[in-house]
Amino acid sequence: MHHDLHSHTHFSDGRLSPTELVNRALERRVTHLAITDHDSVSGLNEAQAAASGTELTVINGIEFSTCWKNKEIHIVGLWVDPSHPGLLALIDAQASRREARGEEIARRLEKARIPDALAGARRYAGEGTLTRAHFAQYLLELGKATSMQGVFKKYMTRGNPGYVPPPWPEMSQAIDAIAASGGVAVLAHPGRYSLSGKWLRQLISDFAAMGGGALEVAQCQQPQNERRFLADLAAEHQLAGSQGSDFHYPSPYAELGRNLYLPAGCRAVWEREPV
Ligand code: AMP
Ligand code: MN
Ligand code: MN
Ligand code: MN
Repeated sequence: MHHDLHSHTHFSDGRLSPTELVNRALERRVTHLAITDHDSVSGLNEAQAAASGTELTVINGIEFSTCWKNKEIHIVGLWVDPSHPGLLALIDAQASRREARGEEIARRLEKARIPDALAGARRYAGEGTLTRAHFAQYLLELGKATSMQGVFKKYMTRGNPGYVPPPWPEMSQAIDAIAASGGVAVLAHPGRYSLSGKWLRQLISDFAAMGGGALEVAQCQQPQNERRFLADLAAEHQLAGSQGSDFHYPSPYAELGRNLYLPAGCRAVWEREPV
């Protein structure tokens, strides 16, 4: 068994279709792949169809953008029911928030003499969730920077021309919607929020108290010792451990299934997978 429980398709800011993602997971000998597009379940039907009759199990997932103490926190849902009304209501609300935020980002870029950013970003988003990554791709196309990192640093982060404060709902709303649809809520990439140890502990403790089920303990690239540290925090709060590449597109930085394992003694989130 080889689980990768965090990945994206072109239904959000990933660049492969669900079918291409499934084929890549098969090549990489992943046996269980969760597709977790930002605020969207639109890729799941195609992925399930592509995986049927193969060695690969596709797990229905999603990654919600939320707020906790004014920090942007990502909550992955695994084994969600993509037709559940409560989940669909939150997805609809997120789509409206993203629409309004996209318009605001474009207005602010316009003031910085960057025209047509909404149309430019939409061209990259296609029918998928509109994300800051699509604005970043448009800015790259205009030659405003030479890397995605560079665009984010110059344009999309606090204090820069395309920055808009995150409009997301409270973390508890995502946890509730995921649980109501039969899924397990996972605190995504806990090491990527620039929180001190004290605040990270508070976040994890609040997440567990709100009904969260697992911490994303393992990613394919993370600082030394972080995995052990997160596994210990998970155990401390009676949370399971999850692992995921957060694959968006082929690059040297992330690959489906690469370097994913849980430290000894960490209870795996899939051990509670419904049968
Ligand atoms: P959004 O959910 O619309 O705010 O878009 C955020 C997405 O942009 C994330 O899911 C990442 O895929 C991408 N992203 C965020 N920060 C960076 C960065 N510094 N460099 C490259 N991509 C980033
Ligand atoms: Mn993303
Ligand atoms: Mn994320
Ligand atoms: Mn992700």
